[in-house]
Amino acid sequence: MSKFYVTTSIPYVNAPPHIGHALEFIQADVLARFQRAAGKDVFFLTGADEHGVKIVRAAEESKKTTKEFVNEDTGKIKKLIKILNISNDDFIRTTDKKRHWPGAQKLWMKLVKAGDIYKKKYKGLYCAGHEAFVTDKDLVSGICAIHKTKPEIIEEENYFFRLSKYSKKIELFVKNGKLKVSPVSRRNEILSLLKEGLEDISFSRPAKSLSWGIPVPNDSNHTMYVWCDALSNYISALGYGQDDSKLQAPSSKFKKYWPADVHVIGKDILRFHAAIWPGMLLSAKLPLPKAIFVHGFITAGGEKMSKTVGNVIDPIEVAEKYGADALRYYLLREIPSGGDGDFTYEKFEERYNADLAKGIGNLAARVLALAQKNKIKTLKSGSFTKEIKKIKAESSQLVTEFKFNEALERIWRLIALGNKYIDEKKPWTLKPESKEFKGIIGSLLFLISNIGTLLSPFLPETSEKISGQLKNRKISILFPQLK
Ligand SMILES: [Zn+2]
Repeated sequence: MSKFYVTTSIPYVNAPPHIGHALEFIQADVLARFQRAAGKDVFFLTGADEHGVKIVRAAEESKKTTKEFVNEDTGKIKKLIKILNISNDDFIRTTDKKRHWPGAQKLWMKLVKAGDIYKKKYKGLYCAGHEAFVTDKDLVSGICAIHKTKPEIIEEENYFFRLSKYSKKIELFVKNGKLKVSPVSRRNEILSLLKEGLEDISFSRPAKSLSWGIPVPNDSNHTMYVWCDALSNYISALGYGQDDSKLQAPSSKFKKYWPADVHVIGKDILRFHAAIWPGMLLSAKLPLPKAIFVHGFITAGGEKMSKTVGNVIDPIEVAEKYGADALRYYLLREIPSGGDGDFTYEKFEERYNADLAKGIGNLAARVLALAQKNKIKTLKSGSFTKEIKKIKAESSQLVTEFKFNEALERIWRLIALGNKYIDEKKPWTLKPESKEFKGIIGSLLFLISNIGTLLSPFLPETSEKISGQLKNRKISILFPQLK
């Protein structure tokens, strides 16, 4: 049985999860469910990034201990995952000293062994908002362009990672498709960065300024900076760093699932995943992930969502009000899979009414009511067989290319076909005992059954309801029309 390992990035828990996190969980979930249905042995990982100065500060502001604060915010992520019906197999937290720290520290030691970690005095402009040193290109007349604050000059001695050494190699992996970056626009973006050549990066912070993190092995005066701490979650969750004697055993998750088949990430962390992470893996002599799929950002009515503007869309609220599948559908269909998109309640309700209530909901209700009333149980292939086969192949291909919106568009062609067929044939005007009536309803049952299967990675609850209704003939409305 072939395996499939899919991950999301781990949300930074300094603020509650937003709709962009929901999009990423849902996209990764489609891939996991799709590959499971295809018979693969799937491992689907998500988790939480719980270290860093910003978290300590956010905890102080909310008058909680750091531990209490991360527990609460990670609880919110878990709640979102549950409400969205995400089928993750594991959840890794970077504060987990038993499961995560040994992996991060082992990876660090591998880089040391390769001669790629060195100490350097560094004087630079530090932006607290960035939690990083910034350069002239991050500034507008001396002020951070993102955080609108003046960075301070800091001189520290830090450990550095020799990322520059791996520029050419990583470029080659991306160019020859061994590390596939999708969509093409993101591939081009990273290739132009790699062409310029990567610089070595600061890999630690002094423990006195960053205490909430993983200590650098053999030097407790230093704390790992985010790279080795957070990116290593993708292997620590598989047992990397825990028991070396078991790492290559057949039962080892690491042996079974690494390398990842795809990391699903947002466009703001492309460089970390397509440059720094591969560099670390090359240094540690570990295989690189096979693919990185990059989604965009979601605006609210064309505006960037922000607490100060007060236009933040809470995905938990939307899912609780309209149902998980309604939100899943909107995010998968309305947001271009590899690009930016927009959310408004008007657009959401429009899509809901047109595609869900009048589309799949109406088709299922009409057909199942006629079938039940006239006790027709036999599914008949025939009328739609060719169309179904074609769309199955097309939508499957589109999912493997991470084009979820296009895959759904194809499936909705089948739904439209069914609704058109029923309008044209007007089966309610025919005699229920006639062969023609039974043929029409049987074909429609066959169509609905196939649509239900096709929908299962995208709208799992709806898919289950459809197959349940086909079996039990108990009709309930899938998506009530919104007024
Ligand atoms: Zn900044």
